[in-house]
Amino acid sequence: MGLIKTYRCKKCGNQKQVKLAVEGNNTEGKPYLHDTFFCKDCSNLSIIDVVNEKMRCKKCMSKNITKDWNLKDLRCDKCGGEFELIQKGET
Ligand SMILES: [Zn+2]
Ligand SMILES: [Zn+2]
Repeated sequence: MGLIKTYRCKKCGNQKQVKLAVEGNNTEGKPYLHDTFFCKDCSNLSIIDVVNEKMRCKKCMSKNITKDWNLKDLRCDKCGGEFELIQKGET
């Protein structure tokens, strides 16, 4: 179980989903732990399976990523606009 937050760009409506520590087992019964990381190099958000995947940005492959980020750090990759929180939900 975990929390999913959905953000929307104020300018163009582009949406991003952010998972907060979603734990479980995949179809093969292996454990996983999804978490969302912010890339300090390209400002991309990557949802990474910290058990099975390498800890790096899925867009630019940088290892300069952090869990410690704020909404104001987020920029829309389409138009550069700011995001707002539109939905919170359980998985
Ligand atoms: Zn946008
Ligand atoms: Zn990156």
